[in-house]
Amino acid sequence: MIIMQTDATPEEIAQVIKEVKKYGLRADVSRGAYRTVIGLVGDETKMPFDHLATLPGVKEAFMIDTPYKLISREYNNFSETGERPFVVKVGNIEIGGDEPIYMAGPCAVESKEQLFKIAEGVKKAGAHILRGGVFKPRTSVHSFQGLGAGGEEEAREALDWLRAAGKKFEMPVVTEIRGETQVDLVAEYVDILQIGARNMYDQDLLVKAANTGKPIMYKRHFGAGIEEFLSFCEYIAAEGNKDIILCERGILPVGKGKGYTRYTLDLSAIPAIQKETFLPIMADPSHATGRRDLIFSMSCAAIAAGACGLMIETHYNPSEALVDGQQMITPDELKDTIDACQKVHKAIRLSKN
Ligand code: PEP
Ligand code: MN
Repeated sequence: MIIMQTDATPEEIAQVIKEVKKYGLRADVSRGAYRTVIGLVGDETKMPFDHLATLPGVKEAFMIDTPYKLISREYNNFSETGERPFVVKVGNIEIGGDEPIYMAGPCAVESKEQLFKIAEGVKKAGAHILRGGVFKPRTSVHSFQGLGAGGEEEAREALDWLRAAGKKFEMPVVTEIRGETQVDLVAEYVDILQIGARNMYDQDLLVKAANTGKPIMYKRHFGAGIEEFLSFCEYIAAEGNKDIILCERGILPVGKGKGYTRYTLDLSAIPAIQKETFLPIMADPSHATGRRDLIFSMSCAAIAAGACGLMIETHYNPSEALVDGQQMITPDELKDTIDACQKVHKAIRLSKN
């Protein structure tokens, strides 16, 4: 990391960037109100920090010993956003701001009617963002893979419904990209690109998604530690895209727990991750529990733990859903859940003041 002097000139900053490139590294430039901070992307051991520190306009140059410095609080304390909360803006919605954000919708987009009916229901229930899978990651090749599996024409049709439903009910929309070939197509239609748990490690997908410039909802893999999660997240930030919303969606359950919940919602990861990074982190109680009867309590718990929002799978008739019916709640139940979460959020906020 290179901290520039408060009165460093644009020419001095450009000179430092040039120098960084000379050593085969990239520069992540954060221009703050008072000073500019330059983070290095690449193998820092190649960098003669002592030499950098002598360049005109440089206040300090040193190595940060963390694999995820661009998204770390440590780096952020020196840069642009400072101590203020970092928010990801999607339309007029702020994720990571004062109020929790609720994303809801079906697991998979199945038809125009299904999607519009659910969109109307979740909007009334208080959701801010509409979700719906078009390309579904499925364990079995014999299961419904989402309408996107029917080819580009069908994918575009489903994505178009998603965009239209979002427009009609005034909600930005989010859907998953499961592979690199889907990125440009999906980016034409949605406001947020979702990278699912199974693809957390797919560097090429992360880079490609980051370069669309769209906000990215990035889910933790069910076997990934926090350090791995944040380290791979850094691949997105290193492309210059920090509009990232992290999502805790449950880790692998152990022993007898396997029979009771689909995964284990790692609530402690929420405040632990918040101590590491300025990026907002939300929770997905639906995939974490796999049980509709646990959504209410785990939603409240996640908000109490400091989640910036929730993703909750919702359907007007969960029993007819082609995917994940067992974990979906109805729009009425979503409303009760959101109302309770808002009370929890308020109580926590009051207790902090
Ligand atoms: C999803 O949100 O549709 C999904 C498949 O979740 P995950 O990647 O967490 O399993
Ligand atoms: Mn699902």
